[in-house]
Amino acid sequence: MDYDIIIVGTGVAGCFAALNLPKNQRILMITKAELEESDSFLAQGGICMLRDEEDYALYYEDTMRAGHYENTPESVEVMIRSSQETIQDLISFGVEFAKKDGELTFTREGAHSAKRILYHDDETGKEITKKLLKAVEKLENVTILTHTIMRDILCRDNTCEGIVMETAEGRLELVQAKEVIWACGGIGGIYENSTNYPHLTGDALAIALKHHIALMHVDYVQIHPTTLYSLKPGRRFLISESVRGEGATLYNQHMERFVDELLPRDVVSNAIFEQMKEDGSDHVWLSFQTIQDLDVRERFPNIYQKCLEEGYDITKECIPVVPSQHYFMGGVQVDLNSQTTMKHLYAVGETSCNGVHGANRLASNSLLESLVFAKRAARHIEACGKNPIKRLCTGQKLEEIYKIDWKEYEDIESYQEKCKENIWNAIKEEKERGFNHKDIKCG
Ligand SMILES: Cc1cc2nc3c(=O)[nH]c(=O)nc-3n(C[C@H](O)[C@H](O)[C@H](O)COP(=O)(O)OP(=O)(O)OC[C@H]3O[C@@H](n4cnc5c(N)ncnc54)[C@H](O)[C@@H]3O)c2cc1C
Repeated sequence: MDYDIIIVGTGVAGCFAALNLPKNQRILMITKAELEESDSFLAQGGICMLRDEEDYALYYEDTMRAGHYENTPESVEVMIRSSQETIQDLISFGVEFAKKDGELTFTREGAHSAKRILYHDDETGKEITKKLLKAVEKLENVTILTHTIMRDILCRDNTCEGIVMETAEGRLELVQAKEVIWACGGIGGIYENSTNYPHLTGDALAIALKHHIALMHVDYVQIHPTTLYSLKPGRRFLISESVRGEGATLYNQHMERFVDELLPRDVVSNAIFEQMKEDGSDHVWLSFQTIQDLDVRERFPNIYQKCLEEGYDITKECIPVVPSQHYFMGGVQVDLNSQTTMKHLYAVGETSCNGVHGANRLASNSLLESLVFAKRAARHIEACGKNPIKRLCTGQKLEEIYKIDWKEYEDIESYQEKCKENIWNAIKEEKERGFNHKDIKCG
C-alpha cells in the first residue's frame, strides 16, 4: 500500500494541512479514535487574530511576555502576520464567529492586553474543526481511516518513507508515502489529570526519540489554572480562561481573592497551587457572579450545562476548580515550514515545536498556530513537489528495506508503556539539564 502523503491526526492541524495540499496528491489521514475525538473539538475560548496594524506590537509583546521571552521571534511574527488570512480561510470554509450588528466581535483572555479573540459561543474549536472536517470529507483525493494507529515510521538514511500502521482490526501494515505529516496533538494522555483526550499520548514524540529526530522544549508543559474539580477519574473539564476575561473571580477557602485572575496561566496556576497548600484544600473557588453585563448562560452555554450536570448552577454559586495539565509547548522540533530534522517528515499543531509559545502559551494562540504552520507545511510540500520526486523502494520486501522487527510490536501494551516511559525520561532529563532555566512548575 502506498500514498503520496500520510497525515497522522484529524484535528485542526491535520485537516488544514489536507485542505491546503495539492488536489492531485493521494492522501491518507488516520486517527486513533472517532473523528470528533480530538482536542481541537474541545477548544472553548477562541482563536486570536491581529485586528489592525496598531495592535501588532502589543499582540507580539503579549505572546512574548507570556512565553517568558523564550519564544522564537520569527515564528511569533509569522503567526501574527498570517492570522487575518487564516481567519479568512476559516470563514471561507463556513466557520461562523460571534458577530454584533454584522461585525465580528472580539473577546479577551488572561495576559492579553486587548480584545483580539474570535469565538463561537464557548465551542470555538468544535465549530472550526467540524467545518474543516466537512470540507476534508468532500475531497476525493483524501482517504480517512478512524481507529487506526501509527505505531512507528518507515525510515532509512534519515529519510521518512511511510508508517507502521495498526488497522482498526488490529493488523499491522507497512504503508509507504513520499511525505509524512505528524499532526498527533499533545501529551495529556500520559498525565493523570489533564483536559486532553486520554488517547493523546505523545506517540510522535516517542517515535522521534527512537529515531533520533530532534525535540525541543519538552519540559514546557502548561497547566491550566481552572478545571472543574472532580473525584471522578478521566478527562478534566476546562473552565475557559475567557470566563475570567469577562470578569469571573477566584477565591480561597475563606472566600478571599488571592490573585489577579488575568495574569498569565502559569502565574495563576502557581498562585492556586500555593493557596491550596496554605488552605490544605484540593481546590479553590471560582465565581461567575462577578461577571457584569452578560448572561453567562448565553455566553458560556456549554460550561453552564456541564456544571449543572455536575451539580453546580454557575448563576447562583461558586464552583470548585483545580489546575490540570492542559497544553504542550514543546514537541518535535520544526522550522518555519514545519519540517523536522528527518527528511520528508513534517510536524504540525501541538505535536510540533516551532518555538512560537516559548515557555508558556498565550491563551487562544494554539488553534491559530496549528492552522498557520499546517498551511505552511502543505505549501512547502507543494513547492518541493515541483522538484523531481524521490522514489520509494519497490521490488524488495518492505520489512527488509526498513529493518522492521515485528517482535517489537507483538506486546502492544508494553510497547506503549515503554513509549510513555521514554517521554517521561526525556522531560525529566531536559529539566535536569536545566536547558530551560525558567521553572514554571508545570510538570
Ligand atoms: C479543553 C481544551 C480547551 C482548549 N481551548 C483552546 C482555545 O480556546 N483556544 C486555542 O487556541 N486552543 C485551545 N486549546 C488547545 C487546542 O485545542 C489544541 O492545541 C489544538 O486543537 C491541537 O490541534 P492538533 O490538530 O494539533 O491536535 P488534536 O486536535 O489533539 O488532534 C490530534 C489527532 O492526532 C491523532 N493521533 C494522535 N496519535 C496518533 C497515532 N499514534 N496514530 C493515529 N492518530 C493519532 C488523534 O486521534 C487526533 O485525531 C484547548 C485544548 C483543550 C484540551
